[in-house]
Order: sequence, then structure tokens, then C-alpha cells
Amino acid sequence: MSFIVKITKIEHLTHDVLKIQFEKPEGYLFRPGQAADISLNKTDWYKKKNCFTFTSLLSDPYLEFVIKTYPSHQGFTNELLTAKVGDELILYKPFGDIQYKGEGVFIAGGAGITPFLSILKELQAENKVGNNKLLFANKTKSDIILEDYFQTLLGKNFVNILSDENLESYEHGFISADIINKNTEDQLKYYYLCGPKPMMDAVERHLSTLGVEKDFIVKEGF
Ligand SMILES: Cc1cc2nc3c(=O)[nH]c(=O)nc-3n(C[C@H](O)[C@H](O)[C@H](O)COP(=O)(O)OP(=O)(O)OC[C@H]3O[C@@H](n4cnc5c(N)ncnc54)[C@H](O)[C@@H]3O)c2cc1C
Repeated sequence: MSFIVKITKIEHLTHDVLKIQFEKPEGYLFRPGQAADISLNKTDWYKKKNCFTFTSLLSDPYLEFVIKTYPSHQGFTNELLTAKVGDELILYKPFGDIQYKGEGVFIAGGAGITPFLSILKELQAENKVGNNKLLFANKTKSDIILEDYFQTLLGKNFVNILSDENLESYEHGFISADIINKNTEDQLKYYYLCGPKPMMDAVERHLSTLGVEKDFIVKEGF
């Protein structure tokens, strides 16, 4: 199953992150947190599939991805930097393991924020954000995707961790067991993880140290 869809809007969210909106095929359904493969519908690129996570609301009349670009890889996301409104994508069916199970601590690294953006936007639309917490790891402040949005939505439940910058009111270093422990509360049962593999492996080790059972860990590696 695949669909040809046109790009309707492109915006830069940070120095290397694009927000891309495109047509939603009739009847196309996904669950917040799910992803899909796409290709560029042009010579040399139509066979190369890369996957991204939907960040539009289920009720939006369009689909949206938030995509971190890697010009140095000379691959798909670099090519996407040349895309224009009206260009065509090939969209495949949605898939993915991350889904909301209840209040918890969301732990994201870089572009690993996208499934949580989707879930938190949907919770916001339903007035159910509650006590959910977000720990967001990035290299520097300029890498934080939608910082103002998350700050307004979550307030004190939004914690930034910066590895390459030491700023007041931002945690410094990598996500540690101590940072997770400080931000844990009894009613936050679930731990949602998404990011690059080394970060995911480290966070899973920290959760194990803290005695979190695997049944309460919901994860997807990027
Ligand atoms: C389920 C899922 C959902 C995802 N959702 C999102 C999302 O919503 N937003 C998002 O931004 N990302 C998301 N990703 C990650 C995203 O798919 C990849 O980051 C992206 O496809 C990489 O594209 P690329 O430009 O590197 O191109 P590719 O065409 O994939 O790679 C180009 C070349 O770069 C090489 N390469 C790979 N790593 C390096 C490196 N470190 N240094 C140098 N060269 C390298 C590769 O070998 C390849 O030859 C998701 C991943 C998964 C699995």
C-alpha cells in the first residue's frame, strides 16, 4: 500500500530540523507515536525509503513530520533540504511500537522527541496532559526542538539536559540515573524512551538500576 502525496508546507524549526506538512490520503489512519516510510517521488530517489513519525493531530486535514537533517550523510534528509512545496512524496503504511499507556516520564534524545510530540499534542487536544513529564536530551540549546511549545505545555514538568553546553536551569551532561530518579514520582508509572541507540542503552541501564520493570518501559530506537 502506498500513496503519492504533495508537500504543502516546509518550515525550519531549528538550524537542522524541518517541519514538513503534506497531503493526507483519504482514510489514512495512524496512532499517535506511529511512523511510516516515505520516499521522494523523483528519479534516483523513489526506491529509497526512510521512516519518520507523524506529528500532526489525528484530526488535522494534513500529515506532518518533524525531520532532523544530516547534510554530511549525503543521503535522504540532505536531499529533503532541496524539497519545495508541490514536490511529491511516496507514503507507505504506518507502523511502530510506541503508544501511550498512561502517565509517565518521557525520555527523548534529539529527533527521538517526535513520537512524544505526537502523543503530547493529542493529550493536549483531549485536555489530558496531566502530570506527564518530559526529559529531553540534546547537545546544545539551539538543538532543542519546539522548546517554547513544551515549556508552555508542561512547565516544571519539562526538563532539558544539554551535553555540550552548561546553562543555568538546564541539566548538564548525559541523562543519568540521578536525573531520572529526581524526576520520578509514584503516579508516573511508565517510562517512554526514544532516541539514538547509545542513549537508549544507557537509559535502560539506569532504569534497571532504579528497579523499573521492563513491563513499564515503552520504547523505540531511531
Ligand atoms: C521508527 C522510526 C521513526 C523515526 N522517526 C523520525 C522522525 O520523526 N524524525 C527524524 O528526524 N528521524 C526519525 N527517525 C530517524 C530517521 O529515519 C533517520 O535519521 C533518517 O532516515 C536518516 O537519514 P539520512 O539523511 O542520514 O539518510 P540515509 O539515506 O538513511 O543515510 C545516508 C548515508 O549516511 C550514512 N550514515 C549513517 N549514519 C552516519 C553517520 N553518523 N555519519 C556519516 N554517515 C552516516 C549511511 O550509511 C548512508 O549511507 C526515525 C527512525 C525510526 C526507526
